[in-house]
Amino acid sequence: MAEPRTYTGGCHCGQVRYEVTADLDQVLTCNCSICTKRGSLLTFVAPEKFGLRAGGEMLADYQFNKKVIHHLFCPDCGVAPFARGKGPDGKEMIAVNVRCLDDVDVAALKPMPFDGKSL
Ligand SMILES: [Zn+2]
Repeated sequence: MAEPRTYTGGCHCGQVRYEVTADLDQVLTCNCSICTKRGSLLTFVAPEKFGLRAGGEMLADYQFNKKVIHHLFCPDCGVAPFARGKGPDGKEMIAVNVRCLDDVDVAALKPMPFDGKSL
C-alpha cells in the first residue's frame, strides 16, 4: 500500500512549480470533455496539501460549462499541471495532473474511471 507522500511537479517549461502531498493509489481518469482531450490522470487533494511554489501570477484560466472549476494552465508551454475547484460538498479542492509530477511512473498506477461527464 502506498502512503501519501510529497511530490513536486509543474508545467513543461518549469515556470509553474508546486508541491503536493497525495496518495497515488487514488488516481482517476475522468471522462469529462476536457479530460478526454487532455488525457489527464488526476488525483484530488485538499488545498492544505498543495503549495504553489512558482508561477502563480502567470497562470491562465480556462472555464466552461458550469464554471465551477478553474482549469489553470501555463500560457507559455500550454501544460495544465493542476486545476482548482469545489467538490460536490462545496469544499475547495485541487485536481492535480499526475502526469505533471516529477519522477512518477504513471504506467505503474492503476487509475479508476471517474464519471466527470455526468457532473
Ligand atoms: Zn510552462
